[in-house]
Formats: sequence, C-alpha cells, structure tokens
Amino acid sequence: SKAAGRNAVRFFDPALQERALQRAALQREMRQSLRDGDFLLHGQPIVDAQGQVQGMEALLRWQHPTRGPVSPVQFIPLAEESGHILALGQWVLEQACARLVAWRQDPQRCHWTLSVNLSARQLRQPDFVAQVRAVLTHSGADPRRLKLELTESQLLHDVEDTIGKMEALAALGVQFALDDFGTGYSSLAYLKRLPLAQLKIDRSFVRDVLDDPNDAAIARTILQLAQSLDLDVVAEGVETPQQFEVLRAMGCRLFQGYHFGRPQPL
Ligand code: C2E
Ligand code: CA
Ligand code: CA
Ligand code: CA
Repeated sequence: SKAAGRNAVRFFDPALQERALQRAALQREMRQSLRDGDFLLHGQPIVDAQGQVQGMEALLRWQHPTRGPVSPVQFIPLAEESGHILALGQWVLEQACARLVAWRQDPQRCHWTLSVNLSARQLRQPDFVAQVRAVLTHSGADPRRLKLELTESQLLHDVEDTIGKMEALAALGVQFALDDFGTGYSSLAYLKRLPLAQLKIDRSFVRDVLDDPNDAAIARTILQLAQSLDLDVVAEGVETPQQFEVLRAMGCRLFQGYHFGRPQPL
C-alpha cells in the first residue's frame, strides 16, 4: 500500500540512520571522555538585587577531543538514555563539593551556594540519599551551601518517593530549587508539600517580559505564589538591564543570566 511504502522510505531514511549512528557514537565517546577527563564544570553567577554574587550554578561542559565542545542540551538526554548520567552526575556532585570546600578559605566566596542540576534518573536511584551524603562527608562540604535543582517533570515521576528523599537531604541542610518553573505540569497542590527553598522562573518568560503582557503576568504570578509559599525566586536568562529592572520592580530578588555573567570554568 501507499502507507507501507512511505514507512519503508522512512525506515531507510539516510538522515535518520545517520542521526542514530551519531547518537550511538556520542554515547560510546562519552564513556571514553569520562575516563580521559574531557568533561569540566562551568559556573554561572546568581546575583541579588544589588548585583552581588550569592552563589553559582554548576553547568556541565563536554570538551570533545575531536568534535569540539558538545552542548549539554545535546549530550544530557543521551547520557540519560544510556545511563551515563549516573557516573556523570556523581562526578559533578564531587566536583561541586570540592569547589565548596575550596571557597571556604576565600572570604569573597565562603558564603556562596553552589547549585547542581539533577537528572530524574539520579533521583530514582534507591540509594540516592546515601550517595549524596557520602560525597558530602568525604569532601567535608557544608550541606547548607549545596543546592540541588530539579524540574517539575522529575517530581511527577514518583511524588511520594521523591518527597521522602528530598526531606532526608533537607534534614542535612541541603536546599532544593525547582528549575524551569512554569514550563512543566506543576501541581500547586504538592508544591507546598515539597521541601523547596527556591523557584527558578524559566528564561522563556524572562525573554519577552518587557513586550509580552502574558509573560509579564506569568512572572508576576510566580513571584506572588513564591511569596505566599515563602520561597525565593531566581529569574533565569536575564540578558538586559531593562529585564533586570522590570523583574526587580515586580519584587524578584535573585537573578541569573548573561547580563551578570556567562558560564565560566569554575
Ligand atoms: P538549565 O539548568 O536551565 O541551565 C541554564 C541554561 O541557560 C544554561 O545552558 C546556561 O548557559 C543558559 N543561560 C544562562 N543565562 C542565559 C542567558 O542570559 N541567555 C540565554 N539564552 N541562556 C542563558 P547550558 O549550560 O547549555 O545547559 C543547558 C541545560 O543542560 C541546563 O539547563 C540543564 O538542564 C542541563 N545541564 C547542564 N549541566 C548539567 C548537569 O550537570 N547535570 C544535568 N543533569 N543537567 C545539566
Ligand atoms: Ca538549572
Ligand atoms: Ca533553568
Ligand atoms: Ca532549561
């Protein structure tokens, strides 16, 4: 039939096949790069309303030996699919805690927090709490300086299990931030049950906050919601002084984006 013919064409689509091969190659090379030390951590400042640095977000970088830099937007989903994210995530956590310990000797940085992105797969590990506790203990990092960033979709997976793990880590002093807020399927009902310290307004709402009344309304609503739940808010992706001013006037107190600093090697 015509439909089967189309399927056959799609099956042998050289572009699709090329992409599948590319993914497989990247997954293989990821394992090698983990061994060779081709991953590194960048840090991007998170600042207060006066522009003073309050902390950093750790952002993973892959310096591929032949392909050059590969974006985390490309390799994180592959790492999640293959399971490499577990080793990578562990490495990120270790590096982050080592940074925190180094900052402690530095009067300019000793009060900074370091935010680390978590993938759903890490959180689903039955011994996730023990893993984080072990890294904290071995490094000697202060748990109160470590912030873990989760997205809404990650929380939806197994709410009760996730809350239990978050509470166990929060009891140590570890803080949690809800990343890309506003883009997922947030259930306001359980938002208040989570031991959260922070919401991060996704940069898609910040980008047009000056021109698009809908985005401005969303930003304002998130800030009001956070205030009533007693949560901090970070506006992500602030690129201009005008965006900074508008968000500050709405009551936002924490900011991140190219206007304040691009990710730099930690
Ligand atoms: P994210 O957690 O939302 O991180 C913020 C992203 O926005 C970063 O992209 C950052 O470089 C970018 N960004 C910051 N300020 C601006 C701005 O003013 N304008 C624009 N256009 N972009 C800005 P990056 O570094 O490419 O990371 C992309 C995503 O990859 C992250 O999004 C996060 O979801 C994921 N990721 C990065 N590092 C890790 C990691 O260690 N573990 C996991 N699981 N995911 C990571
Ligand atoms: Ca993040
Ligand atoms: Ca984000
Ligand atoms: Ca994002």
